[in-house]
Amino acid sequence: MSRIILKSAAVAFASVAVSLLLTLVVVPAMGFAISRSVWLASTVCPLMLAWVASAGTFWQSDRLKNAHRELARAHAQLAAAHRRLSEKASRDDMTGMLNRETFFAALDGSRRKADRGALLIIDADHFKTINDNYGHLTGDDALLLIASAIERGVRSGDVLGRIGGEEFAAFLVGATEPEARRVAERIRREVELIRFRPVDERTVPLTVSIGGITCGESATVSELMRAADRRLYEAKHRGRNLSILDRDISEAA
Ligand code: GH3
Ligand code: MG
Ligand code: MG
Repeated sequence: MSRIILKSAAVAFASVAVSLLLTLVVVPAMGFAISRSVWLASTVCPLMLAWVASAGTFWQSDRLKNAHRELARAHAQLAAAHRRLSEKASRDDMTGMLNRETFFAALDGSRRKADRGALLIIDADHFKTINDNYGHLTGDDALLLIASAIERGVRSGDVLGRIGGEEFAAFLVGATEPEARRVAERIRREVELIRFRPVDERTVPLTVSIGGITCGESATVSELMRAADRRLYEAKHRGRNLSILDRDISEAA
C-alpha cells in the first residue's frame, strides 16, 4: 500500500511540475498575469487528480499482478497433480512396476528407438497353490518378494511391468541373446534364492518360469509376445523354474 502511495505521489508531483511549467509559459503568452488563483489551480488540480488517478491505476495493476501470480501458482499445482495422477495411473499399485497397458506402450516406444533388445515374460510357478495353502494376503507378500527379485535381476534402464496377476515382463533394452540369457538366469536365480517363510521356520520355495525372445528388427510387439509366450509355455511344460530363450525351442513347436 505504501508503495502505491509513494509511486502515485511521484506521479502527482511530476504532474504539478508540468502544470506549473505550462502555466508559466501559456498564461503570460496569452497576456494574463499569473494570479494567486491561477497558481492555486495549476498546483492543486493536478496534485489531487493525478494522485488519485495514478493511485487507482497502480492499485489495479498490483491487483492484476497478484491475480496473475495466484493463477500461475494454481497452474503449477494443477500441472504437478496431473503429473502425479498420470504417473500413478501408469503404475501397478502393488509392485510399483508399470501396469500392463503402460508396459506395452513403453515396449513399443523402446522398439522404435533401438532395434536390439529382448523381451522376457516371467510367470510365478504354481502360485495358485501358495494362495490355496496360505491365503491371498500371504500370496501378495510372495508376489512382492518375487517382484523385488526381478528388479534385482534386470539392468538399470530395462523396462519392467506387471502384465498379469502373477505374470511380469521385462524389456532388456539393447540386449544381445547372451546378455538376455544372463539376465533371465539371474532373475530365475534371484527368485529361487528367496527365503519365504509365511508361517513358521519352514521355507516355502518360490520359483518363476521365463520365456524370452530377442528382437528381430521387423518383429511387432504382438509377434514378440507370442514368441516369448511360446517359450514360457515350454518352460512350464519342461518342469518350471527354467528360462527358455530364442533357439531353445524350434519355431515349429
Ligand atoms: P503355473 O505354474 O502354471 O503358472 O501355475 P499357477 O498356479 O501360477 O497359474 P494359474 O494361472 O493357475 O494361477 C495363477 C494364480 O495367481 C491364481 C491367482 O489367484 C493368483 N494371483 C493372481 N494375481 C494375484 C494377486 O495379485 N495376488 C495373489 N495373492 N494371487 C494372485
Ligand atoms: Mg503362474
Ligand atoms: Mg500366469
